[in-house]
Amino acid sequence: MQTPHISERMQQVLASMHQFLDFEANSAYAQYAGDPDVCDFAFGNPQEMPLPAFTAALQRWSVPLNKDWYAYKMSEPAACEAVAASLRQRHGLPFEAEDISMTNGGFAALAVALCAITDPGDEVIFISPPWFFYEALILANGGRPVRVRIDMDSFDLDLAAIGAAITPRTRAIIINSPHNPTGKIYPPATLQSLAGLLADAGRRLGRDIYLISDEAYSRIVFDGRPYPSPAVFYPNTFLCYTYGKTLLTPGQRLGYIALPPAMPGRSQLRTALLAAQAMTGYAFPNALLQHALPDLEPLSIDLAHLQRKRDRLFAALREMGYQLHLPEGTFYLLARAAWEDDLAFCELLAEYKILCLPGTVVEMPGYFRISLTANDAMIERALPGFAEALRRAGQSLEKNHEPMPMSRL
Ligand code: PMP
Repeated sequence: MQTPHISERMQQVLASMHQFLDFEANSAYAQYAGDPDVCDFAFGNPQEMPLPAFTAALQRWSVPLNKDWYAYKMSEPAACEAVAASLRQRHGLPFEAEDISMTNGGFAALAVALCAITDPGDEVIFISPPWFFYEALILANGGRPVRVRIDMDSFDLDLAAIGAAITPRTRAIIINSPHNPTGKIYPPATLQSLAGLLADAGRRLGRDIYLISDEAYSRIVFDGRPYPSPAVFYPNTFLCYTYGKTLLTPGQRLGYIALPPAMPGRSQLRTALLAAQAMTGYAFPNALLQHALPDLEPLSIDLAHLQRKRDRLFAALREMGYQLHLPEGTFYLLARAAWEDDLAFCELLAEYKILCLPGTVVEMPGYFRISLTANDAMIERALPGFAEALRRAGQSLEKNHEPMPMSRL
């Protein structure tokens, strides 16, 4: 068979996604898809029925009130006003409806922002461990991805490393707080220093350095913590959001980009974003979701329940001997794998029908990620398997895997 032509850019994109694609297609995760007995901790997917109020809003707003109900939609004014009002209230900045660009999810928000500002060869810094697709999105928009590692002791941003990574070609930096997969919320002091660093570098280099703020989990925070948005500290910020986490409905694609009121040149940027939305495949949310947005905006999954699941799993796994990190936000617990080879350890867990995400897939080798969106029954069913896998991993060198030294667990 003839080899098809695939663009060089898409080959680079595919290469950057290979760990993810491999996990999806070839791991136990693929093998167990659809098995009702599986305990699925792999991704932030719902494992119980959606919020009744979510369904009610879609039902209510699906009944057309005029002939334009399902006409082409861009960013609908009523949806934008509901978003701006929520942002004003949560962040204390006077966000305006006209600065909101509605997108089909956070994924599209990131793609549209990158599309609007990236020239060929522009460098875009992203933080490692990253969300799966940052590198791919930067490449797909003609940029050059520049990876900067977090501080592995504190899981905070490594500001010195970010400073050192800035060059005359730097166009943007993608920051994700609360951070997937560490669960870290970057504190105000870090964001203030980051803002100073970016502003100084921009002045020195004579170019705008944008902050693309991935705030997918900004409302998934534990222990009543405040959430400081990077947009409050640095006006040159594209605030990117998805409702997929707060409502736990990631298949109904709804999100936005918000430009802070003090962002320089925001009216031209708004128009550039509109063009970028068209060029990324008409990346607006569908009409129904935009009609329903004012009803959806105040809804949230039960955070107290999510926190109880975090605490139950954290305490039980720790008791067994796992070393875990307590997240401040997001859907995820991050644990040390019992073998250096986290892919192999996740396959061992899968023997007990426990599916987790190997750290290698998100540039955290030696760790694995556990999604708290699993339901209570899955959690209880999985606990004996977690214990047994740890016991087996610790006592044997089966499959030639070195046990992780306890000091590093
Ligand atoms: N950013 C981060 C950090 C995420 O975890 C996700 C979803 N996994 C997204 C962006 C994209 O969100 P959505 O699929 O809802 O657009």
